[in-house]
Order: sequence, then C-alpha cells, then structure tokens
Amino acid sequence: MPVVDCHVHTAMMEVVSPGYAAHVEVHRRQSFAAFVAEWADPQRFLAYLDEQGVDYALVLASNTPASPGVISNDYVARFCAASPRLLPCASLNPFVDREPARQLDRLVREHGFRALKLYPTYSYYYPNDPLLYPLYARAQELGIPVLCHTGSSVFPGARLKYGDPLYLDDVAVDFPDLSLLLCHGGRPFWYDRAAALARLHANVYIDLAGLPPHKLLDYFPDLPRIAHKCVFGSDWPGIPTEIGDNIAAVRRLPLDEAAQRAILGDTAAQLLRL
Ligand SMILES: [Zn+2]
Repeated sequence: MPVVDCHVHTAMMEVVSPGYAAHVEVHRRQSFAAFVAEWADPQRFLAYLDEQGVDYALVLASNTPASPGVISNDYVARFCAASPRLLPCASLNPFVDREPARQLDRLVREHGFRALKLYPTYSYYYPNDPLLYPLYARAQELGIPVLCHTGSSVFPGARLKYGDPLYLDDVAVDFPDLSLLLCHGGRPFWYDRAAALARLHANVYIDLAGLPPHKLLDYFPDLPRIAHKCVFGSDWPGIPTEIGDNIAAVRRLPLDEAAQRAILGDTAAQLLRL
C-alpha cells in the first residue's frame, strides 16, 4: 500500500511573513534561515520521506502574498522535478494571477501538476465566489482535485469567515465531477459541517492535515463511516511532530484495515491518479 502525504509545504518561501517563519522555527527547532538552508534541497526532503515511511508527497504552492507568503508554481515544479514521488500542486489566486484557468491548464498539461490548492482565508474570497468558477470548471475538465483550506488559520492576517466549509456545498453541487478536498476538516468550529459534506457529496473529501491523528475520532465521531473520504496530510513543516509519528498515530486508531489503507494512501492514489 502506498503511503501518500497530501499536504506538505516546501521549506523555501520566496516571500515569507514573519508570523509564518516564527511558526516554523518553533516546530522545527531551528532558525528559519538554517531550516531553509538544510531543507530546500529536494534530496534532503526525499531522504526524510524515506525515514518517515512516505511514498508520495503532494507539495503545495501558495500564492498568498499578504500572509503566510508566496511559494510559486515555478519553484514547486523545479523542486518536484527531483523525483516522481514529489507531486506538484498549483496555487492560483484570482486576485493576483491573470487568467488563472489558462495558467492552470498550462501547469497541468505542460508541467504535470496533480492538483490545485485554494487559500480563501488568506486570499479573502468565499470559495463559492463566481470569480473562482472558471478555475473549478478547468480543474474538473482536467480531472484534477481541488484542495481548499477550511477552518482556522494560525498566521496573522487570516480571516476565518472565508474558511467555512459550507460555501463548498455550492461548488460540490455545481461541479459534480470535480473532487474537492476540505483541508483541515473545518477545524475547530466546523468539523461537523465538513463531515456532513463528505457524507452527502460523492465528490467531497477531507484532508486531515494539521489535525493531531490521535484526536480524529473526537473530531469526527463517524470516521469509520467516512474513512474512505478522508486522506492523510501532515502540513509539514509547521507541525510539532514528525510525519512518521502521525502515520503511526493513524495506524493506532480503532479502524479496520480497509479504512486505514484508504486514509493513508488508497483514496489519495485514486484522486491523484498514481
Ligand atoms: Zn498547509
């Protein structure tokens, strides 16, 4: 069974907010400069994935200049070129990028991007804003999933109202062939909404990134029922543990073998066409 981490960030940031750098320093126990110097090398990161038992990692770009910063699609493409185990995920911001749907097309067809990530709490739009619809339509046509940040954001400048998963209900209805991943499952106020959407809509999934795995059954009491709609993500580097610790914690949950496999890799492998 492949283990897929659906949510990692690169060490390097082309624009970094002080709040984000401080967050990484706390969790990685290094100065931000030292952390970047060590971890910007994709070979260093690949060796880490081996140590942690991860087969594939979805590496997220972020075009969120106000906060937490910018990591460009071009940089992510270069980083992921080091290995087919590193899967590039695009970020497009309709307030910043011209013709985002066309850019997405180019990134997927010419550079092998596997998914699109949206950051409404940092980009200040509701995910059902018509501004986003051309992007959703193109992602659906290209057959790639869209990850959307939901729930709280810890970095200064975030506006949490945009993180309510309920706005993605419109998107799920209007784009029935588009797979939507609700990152962080609407933490901490909207776990129930995220779970309800995953139950209700065949095309809605939950990305468990940033949630302590030993608490998942507290957050999602019906996790056994929706396990096949949940995918493992770590949110490295901004986490207090190592990725392998989180994988081990998922394996300790009282779930059957099929549910464990679905969370740790099977569902992601389908969505990302591995
Ligand atoms: Zn993240």
